[in-house]
Amino acid sequence: MNRRRQILLAAGLLPLVRPLHAASRRVVIVGGGWGGLSAASHLRRLAPEIEVVLVDRQPAFSSFALSNRWLVDHGTSQLVSQDYAALAASRGYRFIQASVDGIDRAQRMVTTSAGRLPYDWLVLAPGIRENWAAWQIDDPQTVAELRQRHSGAMLHAADLPGLKQRLTGFAGGDLLMTIPPAPYRCPPAPYERAMFIAWWLKTQKIPGKLIIVDPNPLMPAFRSILLDRFAEQVTYVDHANVRQVDLARKTVITDVDDIRFDEALLAPPQQAADLLWQAGLIRRIDGGQPTGWADQGGKDFRSVADERVFIIGDAAGLVSPLFGHFPKTGHIANRMGAIVARQIAARATGQAFPALLPESVCHVASSVEPLEYTRIDTRYRRRGDGFLLQQVRQTRQPNPAGEDVAWAEAMYRDFLLP
Ligand SMILES: Cc1cc2nc3c(=O)[nH]c(=O)nc-3n(C[C@H](O)[C@H](O)[C@H](O)COP(=O)(O)OP(=O)(O)OC[C@H]3O[C@@H](n4cnc5c(N)ncnc54)[C@H](O)[C@@H]3O)c2cc1C
Repeated sequence: MNRRRQILLAAGLLPLVRPLHAASRRVVIVGGGWGGLSAASHLRRLAPEIEVVLVDRQPAFSSFALSNRWLVDHGTSQLVSQDYAALAASRGYRFIQASVDGIDRAQRMVTTSAGRLPYDWLVLAPGIRENWAAWQIDDPQTVAELRQRHSGAMLHAADLPGLKQRLTGFAGGDLLMTIPPAPYRCPPAPYERAMFIAWWLKTQKIPGKLIIVDPNPLMPAFRSILLDRFAEQVTYVDHANVRQVDLARKTVITDVDDIRFDEALLAPPQQAADLLWQAGLIRRIDGGQPTGWADQGGKDFRSVADERVFIIGDAAGLVSPLFGHFPKTGHIANRMGAIVARQIAARATGQAFPALLPESVCHVASSVEPLEYTRIDTRYRRRGDGFLLQQVRQTRQPNPAGEDVAWAEAMYRDFLLP
């Protein structure tokens, strides 16, 4: 066997290098999060004749869902993770652990750290990146240090155990938490996390204060619990944008004040993941100013630049001048994956596909003792003229009976359980 074949075989790529005119068509999915895994599973089921290849740089999926209670050991929730190779084997698609570093759209080819990979359709679900440059931090070494010492753990769920360890080691003082400016992933998540941390400081009698630096309006469901019920544990700094971080002085410079901290959960502004910037798939406005998020259709999730490329999940950009973005939730990402799978399966067989819209359900704890949840339902419909409308309904769940766990289990059955 020649050297090239040996290398390709070892990388699991040998059967992937085939002429584009080969009979079977291939969908390459980049990113094995809620969006990418859903697209892979649904495609496999809907279009058995299409080859489905999932690429992710990580070996395993980790979930953020239900993590805020887990962080402070409230209840018995567990972090969920799943090995990609085992999942792919059981669901019948291929998995390659590699980083995708470029997209040649003219050749329909992605460049990965494990070799080049041709596609017929490309689904991009790479999630987000954190924009540390917005805080005047450009040096990769400083970013790495900040992420290691003070990550707010909103980028990878695999960072959550490290955050829990840091919280466990917090003996008192000022615990600073920043909330990213909207849009960011899972809008209620930072407030729910703040509420559980405040509860934990109080019940563990830790002589500490949680300082929340928030550039957004405080979410109404959390106003009384954070400002009244946990008034002794929480200092809420309203409408405050972080401008800089001075790691040596353990100080965050905001446009309200300079705030010193003993421990911090730093979450800078979020943007679509690097790959979309590299591939020139970011939406620009007014003379080329990038919006930070992808440029894709609001109803078909096709890239505006290329009809063979779909962009789903948290990386997706503006869909409506009225309500802005779809909420950046796992539930929406999952539905986008399923919708894109339907479209590709229909296109591959020359059939029409039904117009479908995503929806989101979110069970968020809005009180700790007694435990109370708020269910947030987000639905969409198309007006007669095609204009997309959003309806958000919040329902109090004063006597929760595991609805959050049931929701998560139903989602995982769809895309995650082998
Ligand atoms: C604290 C917290 C709690 C949350 N709770 C909930 C909840 O209860 N319910 C809910 O619906 N949502 C929740 N979310 C939101 C949810 O986690 C995200 O919306 C979801 O992860 C988005 O999925 P995605 O597929 O777009 O991206 P991701 O899940 O981030 O997946 C992206 C994947 O792409 C891979 N990748 C990126 N770039 C490359 C590349 N160049 N090459 C190879 N691989 C690449 C990454 O390794 C990653 O695995 C929560 C979020 C947070 C932060």
